Formats: sequence, structure tokens, C-alpha cells
Amino acid sequence: MNCSDVRNELRALLDGECAEALRASLQSHLRICETCRGEAEAIIAFERRVREAVQAEPVPPALLARLRSRVNHRRPRHSILAIGSRIARTLALLGVFALILLFPPASIIRLRQDPAESRLEVAETPINELRTFIDSRRPLDVATSDSDALRSWFAGKVMFSPPPSPPLPDLRLIGGRLCFFMNRRIAAYMYGSDTHLVSLYIIPSLGQKAARDGANRRQMADRVADVRTLDGLTNVAWERGDLVYALVSDMPEAVAVQLAGEFPP
Ligand SMILES: [Zn+2]
Repeated sequence: MNCSDVRNELRALLDGECAEALRASLQSHLRICETCRGEAEAIIAFERRVREAVQAEPVPPALLARLRSRVNHRRPRHSILAIGSRIARTLALLGVFALILLFPPASIIRLRQDPAESRLEVAETPINELRTFIDSRRPLDVATSDSDALRSWFAGKVMFSPPPSPPLPDLRLIGGRLCFFMNRRIAAYMYGSDTHLVSLYIIPSLGQKAARDGANRRQMADRVADVRTLDGLTNVAWERGDLVYALVSDMPEAVAVQLAGEFPP
């Protein structure tokens, strides 16, 4: 079961509408996959807000339907107030809450971590995200070679103004993906060559800093970058204004560092 399958079934899981075997395999995926756990957590948090709003004052049915459709694009379901599914639903939510407590997403861990561990997260989480994406064989969210088309696709989906995609030697822009990790929405600009893949993550920093010191710091011509190689993928991360850029690629480390140097500082 890959991440895409899990995302498709998350709603059914949270609604308590999964058969036992499916629920078990979804939960075992959530145990190992931080990204899907983050998605589940976001849905639960959203629904909690909806429930609190419902309890605070009566909500017009049309508004409630609109709120529901924001987290439920895939299939129509019964009203959130349907009594029949309440018990199953509560049990399913409790199960996922327990999972999140036992295996908290990095966003929750981060609150308790010191700055060095936060930097470790910037260095390693994008690598794990790209590895998961490659293994899942999911398609891109948007396929385009046009920088302006890519920026307008991301506009309104992320909390920052999507920067232009710089032209890169020997690489072509192939599209983008909307990612969720470190408890925030992240734009991934995707580039390809005949043999290699590059994912440029654009991360709103919210005070989260790329490394300024430590063994992996690399002084480049115009910036300081944090370079990490894990499992055949290299991440070169640097800050620019309120954004952290993380360039992750399956190219050799020296080539990835050189390529990152081609991006505007
Ligand atoms: Zn997953």
C-alpha cells in the first residue's frame, strides 16, 4: 500500500468505514509514514474545528456542506451529524489519535527539540519526502515546463508568493508537487534530465533556520548551505529571506552542490 492509496482511504478510516483488514494496513502505513500521519493530523484538526463550530452555534446546512466538501472531495458522505456512524467514527478517531500520540509527526516533535535538531529536520525530511515520492511512483500534481504556469498553480495553495523557477543548465522544469511536512505546505518544483531528478522544496521558514554551523555547513560563493547525503540523495539547503530552499537530487553530491550554486542566492 503506497502513500497515494493511503490518502485515498484516509477519509474512510477517519469515518470508521473501513473493513478490519484495510484499517490494519492503513494503520501500519501511518506508523511508518510521517507524511501521511501529517495529513491525517491535518484532517483531524480541521474536523475538530468544524465540530467545535457546530457545537458553538447552529451552522446553516449549506455552509456545513461546503466545509465538509473541503476535506472530502472524493466521495459524498452522510452528514457530519449522522448518528448511525458516530460510534464507529469516534472509535476510529481515537485510534488515529493514539497513533499520533505514539508516533507524533515531526511537527509535534519539533516543538520539543532544540535548534540543532530542527536543523537536522530541514536537512533530512526533504530527502525522505523525495525518496517516498520516487518509491510511490505517484504522478506530479501539475506537469508543466512553464515557470509562470507553475507559479500560478501554486498561488493560493501555499502561504507565500511562489518565486520564479530559474533556468538550469542541462535540466528542464517538468512540473510541481504540493507537499505537506514540518507542519506546513511546501512547494516542490520538479526538474529532470535524461538520467536525474531534482526536487526544489520551497519552505516557509517560520523562524526555522537552515544550519549556520556544524559539520555539514558549506560556504558557497554567495551563501552558506547545509549539505546532507542520505540513501543516495543529496539535500543542499539554504535560506533566502523568509524561505528555506532545499534542493534534493539523486545526482552526485558535488554536482548537486554546484547545481544549487546556479540558483539565485
Ligand atoms: Zn505515506
